[in-house]
Amino acid sequence: MSTIRTLTGKSLIAGVFGWPITHSRSPRLHGYWLQHYGIDGAYIPFSTHPAQFDQALRALPALGFRGANVTLPHKERALTAVDRLTDRARRVGAVNTIIVDEDGRMLGDNTDGFGFVEHLFATIPDWQPTAGPAVVLGAGGAARAIVVALLEAGVPQIRLVNRTTRRAEDIADAVSSHSFNGIGFNGRIDVHDWDDRHRILDGASLLVNSTQLGLAGQPPLELDLAVLPTDAIVDDIVYVPLETSLLAAARRRGNRVVDGLGMLLHQARPGFAAWFKVAPEVTPTFRDFVLADIPGAR
Ligand code: NAP
Repeated sequence: MSTIRTLTGKSLIAGVFGWPITHSRSPRLHGYWLQHYGIDGAYIPFSTHPAQFDQALRALPALGFRGANVTLPHKERALTAVDRLTDRARRVGAVNTIIVDEDGRMLGDNTDGFGFVEHLFATIPDWQPTAGPAVVLGAGGAARAIVVALLEAGVPQIRLVNRTTRRAEDIADAVSSHSFNGIGFNGRIDVHDWDDRHRILDGASLLVNSTQLGLAGQPPLELDLAVLPTDAIVDDIVYVPLETSLLAAARRRGNRVVDGLGMLLHQARPGFAAWFKVAPEVTPTFRDFVLADIPGAR
């Protein structure tokens, strides 16, 4: 009987809004931590149509929620639906985490880039962000969060390349107007044509795939690694499969590699800590628990 957990009037409650929501891994992540740390709390998935998103979000303080995650397609809409934004949410142009304060005001944050950088450091503790340029493939929502986080971490130059060049230029334009700790981002992103993606690996310290290429069911990423230095780190945020063909090819030639799952795990930490008052850890057991529910990852 001791394994039966019930909610009380003091339960801390958070949730996640998406449309659809069934694919979200977040309830499993937060559910594990709630149980592991013995917290009187709950994390609830909400399937919320875009037309009702603002109304649903506005109800959070009245219902006593501590906050919520926001996933597709609401991440950009949430920018204007919250009361305040963190600097990084403003730089990224999207919200994935909302924290309700004591006065019922909603703070919108974006922890995707934090998750990316934390996992990179956790996998390769001697990573030196300032060591040299990074090549980032892709210009979607994930790419923008990663570009901002890399610049904040001190990466001196980013070579951004995307099939649709205009989207990469849009990121460069949007991000260039920001700064971090007094250091401007202007001029630190070079946009390249998709066909140049092989050549621009020359001299790079870090290569990141943030496209859908290599994801199960999507075309493979065709990339010639010949000129990539063998001491460069290769990070693929695709995590189905966990060992993408990019990571396998990089590993074979001696590059150190970082998989995509840890970004997902680490991005959840700030929200959990704010809502449930415990700083959660990404442990091997936690990782295995999440992996066990992702078909095709292993
Ligand atoms: P998104 O906004 O839809 O962007 C998709 C990106 O993939 C765009 O850059 C797109 O290029 C590119 N792409 C798609 N098909 C392509 C093709 N055939 N050839 C070349 N480029 C192609 O998606 P997102 O949210 O940024 O996510 C991107 C990937 O990251 C997905 O695989 C997602 O699962 C993964 N992801 C992982 C995490 C994590 O925690 N590990 C978090 C977020 C996302 P165009 O602009 O030319 O269409």
